[in-house]
Amino acid sequence: MGLEGGRLEVFKCLTVLVGVIFLSKKWEIPKHTFVIFIWLFITTILYLLLIEFLSSSCGSGCYFGVLALKHHRCSFPRPIFPLVYLGILGGTYYIIARSSFRYIPGVYVNEMNKYASILAVSVGVILFLLTSFSDPGTVNSKNVSQYISAYSYDNILYVEKECPTCKIPKPARSKHCSICDRCIARFDHHCGWMNTCIGEKNTRYFMAFLLWHFLICLYGAIILVLILAGQLKERKIIFILTVYYGIEKSFYSLFPHVVQWLLDAHNTQMILIVFLIVISLLLAGFFGYHAQLCFTNTTTNEAFKWQEYLSWRRKVNEAQASAEALRAIIRAVDGEAKVPTGKCRNPFRRSPFQSDLAVKNNVYDRGIFRNALEILVPLSERRSFIHPKAC
Ligand SMILES: [Zn+2]
Ligand SMILES: [Zn+2]
Repeated sequence: MGLEGGRLEVFKCLTVLVGVIFLSKKWEIPKHTFVIFIWLFITTILYLLLIEFLSSSCGSGCYFGVLALKHHRCSFPRPIFPLVYLGILGGTYYIIARSSFRYIPGVYVNEMNKYASILAVSVGVILFLLTSFSDPGTVNSKNVSQYISAYSYDNILYVEKECPTCKIPKPARSKHCSICDRCIARFDHHCGWMNTCIGEKNTRYFMAFLLWHFLICLYGAIILVLILAGQLKERKIIFILTVYYGIEKSFYSLFPHVVQWLLDAHNTQMILIVFLIVISLLLAGFFGYHAQLCFTNTTTNEAFKWQEYLSWRRKVNEAQASAEALRAIIRAVDGEAKVPTGKCRNPFRRSPFQSDLAVKNNVYDRGIFRNALEILVPLSERRSFIHPKAC
């Protein structure tokens, strides 16, 4: 009971931890909250513990190796995050295999699912490695001119300028990542979990990673539900409850008793189901958000930029409208204007600036189909990128 209780607590903590960190980035975490402590705990204390563990178990060489790896240009600034991901994935799979594989094959689950689950997890790890280790779209002196031709400056979010660190022109939609220390084309965000930037070339892998992990979690939850349904049938629980315990044969009467039995006899599976459903919902939300951005050809970085721009534009428009109204009042007081009549003479009417200019005008949006194609086949991998005039 103690062991099971402990396991329950571990899963509760993991669920909260994963949920919070999955959807959080350093700059988004609200300060003075519990979340920031978890984030700091993972990025500092756990990291130091890992270093300590490595140096004590493998010697100081390993310790310096990790430090060198950490500080190496374009390498692993926060290696703890991929380790946490692999730990959660491997740990969850191990617990599922140990606690539930003995029920396979069952009434509703056949033997194939054992092998399918290994394949599903392996594909997940491959997608993780592809996102993590493939080039996100590094801008360098050799390809900068092609990137500049591929993405035009919209003169709203992007204007012609040079990256002060890389000393090369900054193509539109690119950003210099201070963690990776390089300019990334079509910069989306720096992903701590992947230890790399999500950019022009690896957004497709990142999206596939999110979608696949959502499907894995859903698949795991469904298989566990089917295992439990099989156990209910095999052990004739409904029959025992209705015949021996005299419980009415209706859904509402049986439901609490069945849940009670499942919590007693299969608490690990029940916790796993809740855990997988919570993670799959988080992943679905995260995937949905990014899919919507992809379909409108907007990056996460641009979504924030647009938010800031529109809010600034509205304030400017309001200030202009107020100034315009004030001028109209002054003219009226000075007797320069006739007595205002009708709505067009109202000095407090909304300025045309207010509604017209505070609108998102995304020049990169080329329709859902072409936007999606730009993710699947990045511009830099097309023939027109190498020979811009042939386009
Ligand atoms: Zn740069
Ligand atoms: Zn980065």
